Amino acid sequence: MAKRSTPKKQQANSQTSRRFKSFQNRARKRLANTAKISTCPQCKESKLSHTACQGCGYYKGRKALDMEKQIDKITKVKA
Ligand SMILES: [Zn+2]
Repeated sequence: MAKRSTPKKQQANSQTSRRFKSFQNRARKRLANTAKISTCPQCKESKLSHTACQGCGYYKGRKALDMEKQIDKITKVKA
């Protein structure tokens, strides 16, 4: 463990929150660059780019996902 000198004065709450906010903003920017979000031309919903829309199942003007089948898969529970 690294040795540190004892703090001479108590740090103000604003200073602590400022440091935390800068960390938060950096993390937010990094996350914003990782996920590319675009709008679906069919239903105008936001979706991940280069993937089929989760709302209507369309990708590049044609139906890529059968949404009714997927709902059946999720709701079916085997006893
Ligand atoms: Zn859509």
